[in-house]
Amino acid sequence: MGRARSFETSKGTSVNDPIVIVGAGLGGIRLAENLRNGGYSGGVVLLGQEPHPPYDRPPLSKSVVTGDGGRVDLKPAEFYAEQDIDLRTGTRVVAVDPDGHTVTVEHDGERSDVAYGTLVLATGLVARKFPGVADDVTGVHVVRTIEDALALRAAAGSATHAAVIGAGFIGCEVAASLHHLDVPVTLIEPTPTPLATAIGERIGQMVTRLHTESGIDLRTGSGVDEIVVADDGSVSGVVLSGGERVDANLVVVGIGGYPDLDYLEGSGIELAPREAGGGIACNGVGRTSAADVYALGDAANWTDAHGDHHRVEHWNHVVDHAALVAAELLGHTITHQSVPYFWSDQFGLKIQMLGASHPDDEVHVVDDDGRKFLAYYSRDGILTGVIGAGRVGKVMKTRQFLQTPTPVSAVLES
Ligand SMILES: Cc1cc2nc3c(=O)[nH]c(=O)nc-3n(C[C@H](O)[C@H](O)[C@H](O)COP(=O)(O)OP(=O)(O)OC[C@H]3O[C@@H](n4cnc5c(N)ncnc54)[C@H](O)[C@@H]3O)c2cc1C
Repeated sequence: MGRARSFETSKGTSVNDPIVIVGAGLGGIRLAENLRNGGYSGGVVLLGQEPHPPYDRPPLSKSVVTGDGGRVDLKPAEFYAEQDIDLRTGTRVVAVDPDGHTVTVEHDGERSDVAYGTLVLATGLVARKFPGVADDVTGVHVVRTIEDALALRAAAGSATHAAVIGAGFIGCEVAASLHHLDVPVTLIEPTPTPLATAIGERIGQMVTRLHTESGIDLRTGSGVDEIVVADDGSVSGVVLSGGERVDANLVVVGIGGYPDLDYLEGSGIELAPREAGGGIACNGVGRTSAADVYALGDAANWTDAHGDHHRVEHWNHVVDHAALVAAELLGHTITHQSVPYFWSDQFGLKIQMLGASHPDDEVHVVDDDGRKFLAYYSRDGILTGVIGAGRVGKVMKTRQFLQTPTPVSAVLES
């Protein structure tokens, strides 16, 4: 297959056309949009395996489960035609051939090849399932797709007790959403507090407080050894690592996700080692080991200026990646420095974290009313992050101090 045309950008650089994006999720659509906004008028093909146009995932564990509505479509239906973006839903990429500059797609059971000039891989994650539990067991759920979230909402209607396995962001949010629907919830987490690996145990204790005072039966320091299935094929409970059984006719598995990269087998495209977070290995602007192939979003493992590898699974990070890759392809320079950010909504509180703090960093709690709180993180006296619950303005005000190294003492005095 011959190589496609070269598109001259307004900056005098060139990019091979068409740009084919694999994965019609947040990263894919943001990239397509940034390319058009940046003046790229060549071909943009967006290949997505799901039957839907790109939609947003954060509402899936929140308003979609509670039924409180909220938009999930990332763009209005007319956007794709207006922006001349060739969106192909129900189209799964099963192989990539960097030498031939083609991808093989499966659509309606048929296989065919799609030629690319530039390829961008934005294929996200799949939810990790509980080992040894068959897919057809009734009452066991994960939350990654809109279908997952709608199925969970439907199951909540007849749930008498829910067990949520894993108190990471999705597990905590699902626990809060089910509680909002008056379903009694046991939330089970092997580490000492919810979110401990992201925010550290000291702040994790404040999240513990939020859950227990809201009425969640939180079991920390305990894993789940077994999901118990009744003779009729429906779930009946879980067995904790200490041997205790928790009866539940709804079980949500919130034990994380992983990039499903089988479609890259044989492509020669380098993957990051598992101990560095796995995913598709990229440099600091999303370039992979193959010419004209980039990766971004949850599936991508980027290298930072210090040579460290990161695979991050947060919404804003994906948006930043998409802007950086578009800028790289179009020869633009990004001048603003983004500060890592994520948020989570639980029990009517917005928990937000800004910065690149480590869970072991020193914690400075500056405000705690028993429910809402604000705290800074520092390392060697330098501010590394801020976290707040119900403290939106104060968290955002700290952004200015995180753009350059700032002594935490200066922030504590400000
Ligand atoms: C339930 C839930 C709640 C969340 N809440 C928050 C939150 O509150 N705050 C926050 O910061 N972040 C949150 N996130 C994380 C955020 O949504 C993700 O970081 C973001 O969606 C990742 O974007 P992406 O484009 O990399 O992947 P995705 O949005 O997952 O999109 C990837 C797309 O690629 C498709 N795909 C995969 N393989 C192929 C293939 N071979 N061929 C074709 N298509 C393929 C997938 O089906 C998918 O549609 C949440 C995530 C989930 C699941």
